[in-house]
Amino acid sequence: MEAGADLIERVRLVCGTRHVLTDPVALLTYRSDGVRRDGPLPLAVALPGDGAEVAGVVSACADNQVPWVVRGAGTSRDGSALPTSAGLLIALTRMRRVLAIELADDEVTVQAGVPAATLARSLAPTHTLAIDYPGTVGGAAAAGMLGRHLVGLDLVQPDGTLVSCTPRSIGYDLSGAFGGSHGTRGIAVSLTLRAVPFS
Ligand SMILES: Cc1cc2nc3c(=O)[nH]c(=O)nc-3n(C[C@H](O)[C@H](O)[C@H](O)COP(=O)(O)OP(=O)(O)OC[C@H]3O[C@@H](n4cnc5c(N)ncnc54)[C@H](O)[C@@H]3O)c2cc1C
Repeated sequence: MEAGADLIERVRLVCGTRHVLTDPVALLTYRSDGVRRDGPLPLAVALPGDGAEVAGVVSACADNQVPWVVRGAGTSRDGSALPTSAGLLIALTRMRRVLAIELADDEVTVQAGVPAATLARSLAPTHTLAIDYPGTVGGAAAAGMLGRHLVGLDLVQPDGTLVSCTPRSIGYDLSGAFGGSHGTRGIAVSLTLRAVPFS
């Protein structure tokens, strides 16, 4: 079996068949970003539901030597969320769960596909995240827009291993190195943000 077909078969096992898009019509929407473009269609679009599924998809790509691009809401305008024709697009739009709200510590932990502006509005009665543009929390962090609001993350590295850097963990500050990486350091699957209280 060729690498592309083998990969798609494995990704279906990881995410479930209905969360792997291969129909060319379904793929059309993914060849544009915040700027309308007519770029190439990817081999397929994978829509994982959690960090373990993201790790499974990235491992499958590594084993089959197929490149991938990660995408949040696809609202950026620099082309970095666009697929390549020989690669898989990993879209995080199903990963929209708020995992923990700890306003006593001014922290909130969310899956990477949570819309940034929606989260900011939901915290607005008491706290600010200083984000008010389209896109996901993961996309905003990868584009370097969260600055010091980003204090921790779970990251799937390019070989498919999942590493964790929480606000209270000991070790490298992956969150600092992740900001502005545009997907090149791996895929953030959950992020912990510091929300600033209105005083
Ligand atoms: C109308 C409009 C207004 C905008 N206003 C602003 C503005 O005021 N300020 C501003 O800075 N930007 C603005 N933008 C640009 C864009 O909205 C932001 O860059 C947004 O944060 C991107 O989020 P996204 O989820 O759409 O990311 P995407 O466009 O999907 O991806 C952006 C980059 O991040 C990577 N990425 C996405 N998710 C992850 C993840 N979980 N882990 C690792 N890498 C990831 C992608 O590979 C890509 O390189 C605007 C865009 C539009 C269309």
